[in-house]
Amino acid sequence: MSEKLNPWESQLTNLKKVSDIMNLDPSVYEVVSKPMRILQVSLPIRMDDGSIKSFEGFRIHHNTARGPCKGGIRYFPSLELDTEKALGAWMTWKNAVVNLPYGGAKGGINCDPKKLSQGELERLTRAYAAAIADFVGIDLDIPAPDVGTTSQIMAWFADEYYKISRRILPGVITAKPIGLGGSLGRTAATGRGCYFTAVEASRTYDIPIKGASVSVQGYGNAAYYSALNFHQAGAKLVAASDTRGGVYNKNGIDPVKLVEHKAKTRSVVGFPGCETFSSTDPLTVDCDILVPAALENMITLENVDDVKAKLIVEAANGPTTPGADRVLDEKRIICLPDILANAGGVTVSYFEWVQNRMGYYWTEEEVDQRLEKVMKTAFKDVYDYSKKYDVNLRYGAYALALDRVAEAMRLRGWI
Ligand code: GLU
Repeated sequence: MSEKLNPWESQLTNLKKVSDIMNLDPSVYEVVSKPMRILQVSLPIRMDDGSIKSFEGFRIHHNTARGPCKGGIRYFPSLELDTEKALGAWMTWKNAVVNLPYGGAKGGINCDPKKLSQGELERLTRAYAAAIADFVGIDLDIPAPDVGTTSQIMAWFADEYYKISRRILPGVITAKPIGLGGSLGRTAATGRGCYFTAVEASRTYDIPIKGASVSVQGYGNAAYYSALNFHQAGAKLVAASDTRGGVYNKNGIDPVKLVEHKAKTRSVVGFPGCETFSSTDPLTVDCDILVPAALENMITLENVDDVKAKLIVEAANGPTTPGADRVLDEKRIICLPDILANAGGVTVSYFEWVQNRMGYYWTEEEVDQRLEKVMKTAFKDVYDYSKKYDVNLRYGAYALALDRVAEAMRLRGWI
């Protein structure tokens, strides 16, 4: 069965469906079905071999009704504008689900960061910061990392922005290194947030975490910290993967040793004692909890029939297509949607922004407690909306977010 795999269209499909179920004023959909601004820039930099290469960059402001835009920067080869637009919109919904005073944005550069030297990466990041400087700001748009970007990249971006604006305003970008005004707990936040929402789901739907088998697709930051949190709660990591392949061990894999192996060899592949998997095998392996933590469009009509998990925790953005979602519902698999499950990252980004603005920093315990509270409340709000409209948790999350964004747009006189 074939389906269209355009994330922007998938996002619109969900939005339209939920707006109709809620019987929402059609002007809400009319406004939010188009991003507010799209900036496309060309970024010529000198490569190490002396040649000049021009990269394509974007920054998309989807909606600013609830506050300044917030969302990550992705460095990725073959970056599509429609994917960036969808990622920007998902930030609007995500920020509303966890009730942060933000709108949604996303940006990125069409490049393969693995093929660039440190010097090239730095020059490219500085060129990007300079090119989008008028588009960002502490009260306008606050970027952060996403796929392919790191805290070092945030540091270069911040430094370039300080030079251009002639102000040291660390709150202009989040997930900075701790030594540059980053927040304690930010690195682990996305995975930690996934775990907190899973704990709520585990209680609500009676799916125990202790003793559960957990499979993660991906082994980047979100995947690793999710796996670690589940492991520490007595679950067993059975599978993980990256772009080069995957590993499987039904008796359990030590998440820390696996991340060390990946740091050494640049891949999870070859981790001792494991069977070899493909990058996508973790999606369909026998497990209780599945954490898709790679890219969009991973659980599709092609493979959804083979998904065996009882609970899916979407650490990635947009990993499930609308078609696959319907099948998950039929199979009664509980799916914690991206705009809820992975909101821990942007929540601690918000804490970082707050700390930067007041110039006073919290302990890791304080950050963790606040994060837990935000994720618990968001789960309950989403669950209540799903009951109110008799829909799954994804639609419940969209309904909650739409209500909040619509209210702000109404109050501002946009609709
Ligand atoms: N890129 C992350 C996300 O998709 C984090 C965004 C942020 O911290 O602003 O949620």
